Amino acid sequence: MERIRNYIGGEYQEPTNNSHFESFNPATGEAIAQIPESGVEDVNRAVGIAQEAFNSWRQTSFSERAQILRKISELIKENTDQLAALESMDQGKPIWLARELDIPRSAANFAFFAGAVEHCSNSATQEKGCLNYTWRDPIGTAGLITPWNLPLYLLTWKIAPALAMGNTVVCKPSELTSLTAHFLTRIFEQAGLPRGVCNILFGKGDPCGSSLVSHRDVPCLSFTGGTKTGLAIYKEGASHAKKMSLELGGKNPQFVFADCNIDACIEATLKAAFLNQGEICLCTSRLYVEEKIYLKFIERLLFRTKQIKTGDPRKEDSYLGALVSEEHLNKVLSYIDLAKQEGGSALIGGDRLSLVGELAKGSFMPPTILTGLSPRSRVIQEEIFGPVLCVFPFDSEDDLIKLGNDVPYGLSASIWTSNLSKAHSLAHALDVGQVWVNTWMKRDLRVPFGGVKLSGIGREGGVHSLDFFSQTKNVCIQF
Ligand code: NAD
Repeated sequence: MERIRNYIGGEYQEPTNNSHFESFNPATGEAIAQIPESGVEDVNRAVGIAQEAFNSWRQTSFSERAQILRKISELIKENTDQLAALESMDQGKPIWLARELDIPRSAANFAFFAGAVEHCSNSATQEKGCLNYTWRDPIGTAGLITPWNLPLYLLTWKIAPALAMGNTVVCKPSELTSLTAHFLTRIFEQAGLPRGVCNILFGKGDPCGSSLVSHRDVPCLSFTGGTKTGLAIYKEGASHAKKMSLELGGKNPQFVFADCNIDACIEATLKAAFLNQGEICLCTSRLYVEEKIYLKFIERLLFRTKQIKTGDPRKEDSYLGALVSEEHLNKVLSYIDLAKQEGGSALIGGDRLSLVGELAKGSFMPPTILTGLSPRSRVIQEEIFGPVLCVFPFDSEDDLIKLGNDVPYGLSASIWTSNLSKAHSLAHALDVGQVWVNTWMKRDLRVPFGGVKLSGIGREGGVHSLDFFSQTKNVCIQF
């Protein structure tokens, strides 16, 4: 069993209280790591060291920082197989998915922000003998808190731009998935990242995450996770006037019009609903299909859903692996019970999947499609975050805006049609942060990413991340 240690000031340290808890492989139920139960003393130590490191890191040039970020990117690529195996074992996702999505994207985050910072220039304006010039300063030590669904992918999405802009960071990955973050610390050493610039603390949301949020020397917080946690962080951070970016939950609709490319749409729907066991904030959870093709579309979707395999995450043909934990599986299954109470029924799936042998204690659930629910039912209003898709027919385009927007979340939506005018007008009317037309989860690193309503506050991605992890200052000179 691996013993994870905090990474503070370039050293591996036990938590001050010397207390640990176990982390499990959700596919087997086996304990695989001991995680430090870090607390306020560890946060104080890490923040103190990050602040000291800030004095010199902020003085480095963009190109020096970019060079180190590129080296980190290269080392992630070189270690793809090992990182993918760790991510799959820790999170439950299929190893092919970690190898094809999580790890390449983690490497791309560092390479992209290395380039972004090198190409980032500041502005100057001039009028009536007055010159204004504006530049971006780093903010200080940023607190980065991340969830378990895309562990390394989302952690690096924050570390890379924060460091690129000259900040130092203290990170708190999810207590359920610590392995790849721990591995990343070795890569920092090899890449020559100066000590204290990136510190990683392992532990639970409370006290580790909460102490980071309330620390008075952490002026900037970037959080990705559940809405309830995000709102508590927002409240606490606001009382210290911290700069915050919150990427929260979703309940994303997909609209399928009869004039779309149905074959492409069916394949994309499987992916949008069930990739990563449906544990992606951008997953489609509400599917609205035009009435005249509804029955045929659902029949074909069920046919394809039956063909995808849920099983051992190490096997290349498993499309779904295990859900992240037994507790999370039980939460998802409780929504299936609730759906039945609310008048819904499962067209496919809906029960725990029991496997045999070393997977007998795994937290598996097959892809599930629910029907018969009302738009105001809790199953349709609340985020489930599992392989559960709810389907509805629609006959009038006029209802779609209301249906799409009638949830407390506003993260993303997708629209399938060959009529671009229809796509544009629906895309504009939806209260979400991003809309895909005839595709899903194409993520260009340059574009803004974030949600509205209970899905979050602020935007990251491309120049938006550079803006978030810096503060602008303007100087006005009369000449
Ligand atoms: P979570 O909110 O339970 O935990 C997220 C992180 O916050 C973890 O590191 C956790 O330890 C920490 N935390 C918990 N309580 C805290 C506190 N009081 N103070 C500080 N930190 C605290 O979320 P989760 O279950 O890990 O992740 C699933 C959620 O993340 C889903 O709701 C999903 O939609 C969301 N998510 C959103 C995005 C996005 O970009 N919008 C991306 C991925 C996941």
